[in-house]
Amino acid sequence: MSAARAGIPIVVAAPSGAGKTSVCRGLVDLDDGIEFSVSHTTRSPRKGERPGVHYHFVDASEFDRMVAADEFLEWAEYNGNRYGTSWDAIEGLLASGTDVLLEIEVQGARQVRGRLPAARLAFLVPPSMDVLEERLRGRGTDSDEQIEKRLAIARTELAAVGEFDYALENDVLERCVADLGAIVAALRAGDPAPLGDRFDPAAVAARFR
Ligand code: 5GP
Repeated sequence: MSAARAGIPIVVAAPSGAGKTSVCRGLVDLDDGIEFSVSHTTRSPRKGERPGVHYHFVDASEFDRMVAADEFLEWAEYNGNRYGTSWDAIEGLLASGTDVLLEIEVQGARQVRGRLPAARLAFLVPPSMDVLEERLRGRGTDSDEQIEKRLAIARTELAAVGEFDYALENDVLERCVADLGAIVAALRAGDPAPLGDRFDPAAVAARFR
């Protein structure tokens, strides 16, 4: 029997509130061949978040230790907290042939591009900035000040969409999950032709300029 193929690392970046978690969760639930990478973070758990499932919650000194020991593929500071993908979170999965979704922000995505050439990068955009703001407010987890900060970060993140391999709009959740599934299927087949220019980042970048 031939060795199983290595899994594909797939970065999904998006401004906070674009619905990235729901879209990624939707795909992982439908597809046994793909799993989440569980990140480390120094932020406190939100209600309902479980250690080891949503994040590995660590304090600043443990995060410092991991950075110094080069245990991260990538890490970044976002909104006052640090987040990182450890090599441990992805290597075993990739080696066993499981594709891995890295749900991370833009600075981290750039590091992955530089350090993991096999990775493919998708960027999820909201239908508009107004919709993004509505979603952040509807979530009810952040203060007004936090929401303003997240919107300011979102504007700078959206300016980076042209650096990605694919751009997807999250208008209707099920459609976006299917779109991400189509991208993953094309990557597995090693043939991007069926995708045409549907997910062309340049076209999406023009909308948010
Ligand atoms: P939240 O605090 O809302 O869970 O996450 C804030 C931001 O950090 C989101 O854009 C999320 O995707 C990103 N993030 C989560 N884990 C990682 C990680 O391991 N690395 C990087 N660079 N960003 C991450």
